[in-house]
Amino acid sequence: MVDHGPRGRSVLVTGGAGFIGSHLVEALRTENDVRVVDDLSSGQESNLVEGVTLVEGDIRDLEVLQEAIEGVDLVFHQAALASVPLSVEDPERSHSVNATATLSLLELAREEGCRVVLASSPAIYGEPEELPITEDHPTKPTSPYGLDKLALDRYASLYHDLYGVETVVLRYFNAYGPRQGDSEYSAVISAFLEQARSGGPIAVHGDGEQTRDFVHVSDVVRANLLAAETEHVGEAFNVGTGEATSIRDLAELVRDATGSGAEITHTEARQGDIVHSRADTTRARERLGFEASVPLEDGIRDLCGAIEAAGD
Ligand code: NAD
Repeated sequence: MVDHGPRGRSVLVTGGAGFIGSHLVEALRTENDVRVVDDLSSGQESNLVEGVTLVEGDIRDLEVLQEAIEGVDLVFHQAALASVPLSVEDPERSHSVNATATLSLLELAREEGCRVVLASSPAIYGEPEELPITEDHPTKPTSPYGLDKLALDRYASLYHDLYGVETVVLRYFNAYGPRQGDSEYSAVISAFLEQARSGGPIAVHGDGEQTRDFVHVSDVVRANLLAAETEHVGEAFNVGTGEATSIRDLAELVRDATGSGAEITHTEARQGDIVHSRADTTRARERLGFEASVPLEDGIRDLCGAIEAAGD
């Protein structure tokens, strides 16, 4: 499927039954020995392709993590309570999954001598003070999720600086694609597609002028494969397209792609929503050699095709 990336390695994907993790597993499994650890809390076993070993369990359980990481030389850490609202409801759970379990994983990676590529988030930046957002933007998270990802991000850097662990942090902007389910990030694309396919209306929160940087999951996977091999360890990279799309324009794209002619309506603005978000992609381009390649129109059209093919 991919012509670059790790080969002949023993790889662990935490959260490999989830949206991004399962695409990563698919890209890795023909050339590598791939193991997944997942408690199937939001991921599904049916997302896993054949030939992949599943260690079913909670990454907060040290024995589970130890079993999963034994003999591995490369880890992609995707497992998380990946939801801002859930983290607001239950900050202790968010901290234990997103921060504490990451620390345990880094400690085991130090013992095993593995490289770790970690999934972080622009939620660490909080409300942007300037756009596009560079990796050096101030960090003022506005949710427990953002704060826990900031801990993950900083621990990764510290484990590199203090102990020489090869860590690479990827801060994904709004990822989208097949198998996304109900993730709190780009759930807007899934929601609009569902509304359009059932005849509409497509409900936009507020005036729809808020913007996001939507990045296709295949690009997110490629960024991970590049991170597995880069010499720029101990660093963090934004993973986005560098393009901003308004939610209103997104609604129109979805309507056109589905050919539904659904009406677009506006509902109450959501409290606490960040108004604009867009990645500065310079560092990822210059140091990782990463550039997003899937235009949003194409990604949405393919997603419609995938949903129809699945007979959903
Ligand atoms: P997802 O919910 O589909 O995947 C997370 C996976 O982790 C699921 O399979 C879930 O079952 C598993 N998991 C959760 N808690 C666990 C635990 N305690 N033990 C073991 N497994 C556990 O989410 P996703 O969208 O694929 O996100 C993947 C990663 O990317 C997450 O770390 C998320 O925070 C990060 N991220 C995602 C986006 C995005 O746009 N989707 C943006 C920024 C960062």
